[in-house]
Amino acid sequence: MLKNKLSLALLLILCLFLGGCKKDEQAVTYTELTQSEVGEPGSDWGKSATGSAKYLDGTSVLVTIYLDDVNSLWLESDEQLVADNMKFACDYLAEQGKLYGKEVKLIYDTSVDSDLAYRLSYKDAFAGSTRGDKAEQLVYSVYDYIENNIDTQAILKKYNVNSIGYMVFIDGEADRCTAYCYQLEYRDYYYNEFCLINLRWNGGHNVYPDTYAHEILHLFGARDLYYTDKYDGLSRPFIDYVYENYDTDIMLGSGTNVVAYENKITSDITDITAYYLGWLSYLYEFEEYPHIKSKYPASFSEVEKVIGVDFMDYTVEARKLRGGYYTDEGRFIMTDEKISALIALIIAIIMLACILSKSYRMKKIYNMNSKQYKNYKNSLKRQKAKEKAGRQYAKQDNIISLYSSNPDIIDDKEE
Ligand SMILES: [Zn+2]
Repeated sequence: MLKNKLSLALLLILCLFLGGCKKDEQAVTYTELTQSEVGEPGSDWGKSATGSAKYLDGTSVLVTIYLDDVNSLWLESDEQLVADNMKFACDYLAEQGKLYGKEVKLIYDTSVDSDLAYRLSYKDAFAGSTRGDKAEQLVYSVYDYIENNIDTQAILKKYNVNSIGYMVFIDGEADRCTAYCYQLEYRDYYYNEFCLINLRWNGGHNVYPDTYAHEILHLFGARDLYYTDKYDGLSRPFIDYVYENYDTDIMLGSGTNVVAYENKITSDITDITAYYLGWLSYLYEFEEYPHIKSKYPASFSEVEKVIGVDFMDYTVEARKLRGGYYTDEGRFIMTDEKISALIALIIAIIMLACILSKSYRMKKIYNMNSKQYKNYKNSLKRQKAKEKAGRQYAKQDNIISLYSSNPDIIDDKEE
């Protein structure tokens, strides 16, 4: 009887224990969604937590908006630069998606679909201002432009998609490119999500395709991983952890441990970014950093505040890594290959200088012209060769005399 009661008590404890575990598991579970599950074109417009650009899986449209301000020239080569960078970025996103079993298809090519290209005429000079009133004014002008000039619902229907983002390109220089994403709790973030991309950094270097990809990823829920953000739950310890352990992630921006190129992207979408895109439903990092969990996949919404976690403003240092030299004003690229070539060139110049100075000194000492110096050098060579041959004969003579004076050596060898 006592044994039965004991067994029952043990069973009860086990059930409670398992129940407790299940509750914990549910707390970290988050649904992984795909584009095919987001519904018919335009069906949930204005209601999805993800904003206009939903899941980076399946098909989405990216509309191009060329911004014409008073300083814009928009040469053919500028538009080509945009087209090339968009291709590198979109191809890259498709490749990265495959690694996570996702089929990323972005419709963006305005040379094929000319109805996806727009021109926004902006009365003011943008002049690279990415902060302050001027920048804010531009952002609201873009929102208004999209709202009043682009028939988004018609585009969604035509391309049979339920996900759309807008790429605004500025023919100018600036210190940063930005993405304006829908945030559930902030009403001033509109539903239409767009990127603001300058063609060049301050100083004149082109913005490379890695930045295009980085900004597009924001539209689909990717977080910046290089600074703390209380809203997103990105704490100082977590940011440091990512910096140390996922240092190739494209969302680390200039802190990433890879080189930026104008014709390829070498950074990765790591598991951390894959989670924010809704490509992964679980990260083992949740155990250590539970505050990083997103409320909805592929969206920006306020996370539960955790007491005692450090969210103080903090940005990881830009790294000087295998060619990525970043400054506040923009980016100066000096790759490893270029450094090696430069060192080789310097060594070659030093060696050449030594040879030339030696021959110069010789000519000077012996007062010879070039032909005489050449003959002199050849005679030196011949003399050296003779000396060498002489040494070899002498060596052979020594061996012969050694053998003849000690026949045992020869006997030994024959046995
Ligand atoms: Zn960013």
